[in-house]
Amino acid sequence: MPFEKGRRVAIVGGGPAGLMAAETARAAGAAVDVYERMGSVGRKFLIAGKGGLNLTHSDLFDRFVARYRGREREMRAWLQRFDADALRAWARGLGVETFVGTSGRVFPSDLKAAPLLRGWVRRLRANGVNFHVHQRWLGWNDDGELRFAHGDDEHVARADATVLALGGGSWPVLGSDGSWTRILESRAVDLAPLQPANCGFDIARGAVEGWSEFFANKYAGQPIKPVVVAWRDESCGDVRRQGEFVVTAHGVEGSLIYALSAELRDAIATQRRATIHLDLAPGRDAERLARDIAQPRGKRTLSEHLRRHAGIDGVKAGLLYELLTKDEMQNPERIAQAIKVLPLTLIRARPIDEAISTAGGVRFTALDDSLMLTKLPGVFCAGEMIDWEAPTGGYLLTACFASGKIAGQGAAEWASRLLSAPPAS
Ligand SMILES: Cc1cc2nc3c(=O)[nH]c(=O)nc-3n(C[C@H](O)[C@H](O)[C@H](O)COP(=O)(O)OP(=O)(O)OC[C@H]3O[C@@H](n4cnc5c(N)ncnc54)[C@H](O)[C@@H]3O)c2cc1C
Repeated sequence: MPFEKGRRVAIVGGGPAGLMAAETARAAGAAVDVYERMGSVGRKFLIAGKGGLNLTHSDLFDRFVARYRGREREMRAWLQRFDADALRAWARGLGVETFVGTSGRVFPSDLKAAPLLRGWVRRLRANGVNFHVHQRWLGWNDDGELRFAHGDDEHVARADATVLALGGGSWPVLGSDGSWTRILESRAVDLAPLQPANCGFDIARGAVEGWSEFFANKYAGQPIKPVVVAWRDESCGDVRRQGEFVVTAHGVEGSLIYALSAELRDAIATQRRATIHLDLAPGRDAERLARDIAQPRGKRTLSEHLRRHAGIDGVKAGLLYELLTKDEMQNPERIAQAIKVLPLTLIRARPIDEAISTAGGVRFTALDDSLMLTKLPGVFCAGEMIDWEAPTGGYLLTACFASGKIAGQGAAEWASRLLSAPPAS
């Protein structure tokens, strides 16, 4: 594809959003340079592959849009440009077939990210996209050039339009550390504070923070499954979900907790704590359970009795011993009640660097429909650095790809508009 002289788009950040922006800008005829601070692009994308690479979801469109809490209007517009079907077709174009799992989640047929990323980068290079790695973006100089650090050296690059696709602040070891917030704040770009999303929580037992040493040593890392988590939230009413979560050294994490994490995080911010209720024996009738547990236990230990009559053992039994008093553990009725409704108090979201994703970032009010920063004409944003969040399920990557598409197109159009504009008098 011939380059139009002077029509150069810089993409800063080589995650899925940046690479999609690069592909789109290149397809629109721009010369494209991708700048990435790490030694290779797509590190977080590769880690997502360790969990099977949940690319997108098979939800119907309206349901899909509804996953982006509070941002349905904006996401509808993004997904109308590039939705789950478009994403699956795009993957097919790279030779990667996808399938819908039992939960409705969509995965590549080999459940891997590396072949997809390798094929994509190869195609981008073949189409003329230039990659510059070990380039840490520092902001702009007074002439509007992009400043990059390469080891101890600093150099500049000129671009007619720029897409920032710098990610959120989770898992900073993979490259995205949220340091771009300082640069954009200094340019008066309106940002919502970065917060953990799809994250774990610390717990408290009464006034005591965390698990007992005994419980944490014995059970940290163990899954609790199946379990129902019930929670009452002012914004979404009564929520009951079945699944699993994992005990950690300080609290809980895992898919069931992540699914509620945005609401739990916000509740803790306003009420200092959020109490969820666990049903450790989903599917078992409460009255029947109480009758079974009330049966004489003879010489059997309580643990053995609970295992036989309630199917409760291991970490689930450990939770009862941890959260009930000694007296309560002598009362079969109370135990049965606790198995069905066990309150667990969450006091703090785990730090952002442990979270799967990030909420907050560049506010939509700071962007136009092409995802250009209104305060910085010619500078576009894409991906997780924009102020939206979603649960796991493929919604994160889909929005990153969709926004990359929009920003890449916008940047290419902006650059070509500059080219065709009459010289300033
Ligand atoms: C363990 C884990 C599993 C996940 N699994 C899934 C999943 O299965 N499905 C799903 O939908 N989502 C998943 N996600 C989330 C998903 O990976 C992210 O939402 C997505 O990668 C964000 O894309 P992005 O392009 O916006 O940012 P990133 O992927 O974070 O890419 C941003 C890039 O910018 C670079 N960068 C940052 N700052 C600078 C700078 N100053 N200069 C130059 N370069 C810079 C970074 O090095 C990085 O390469 C997972 C996340 C984690 C942590």
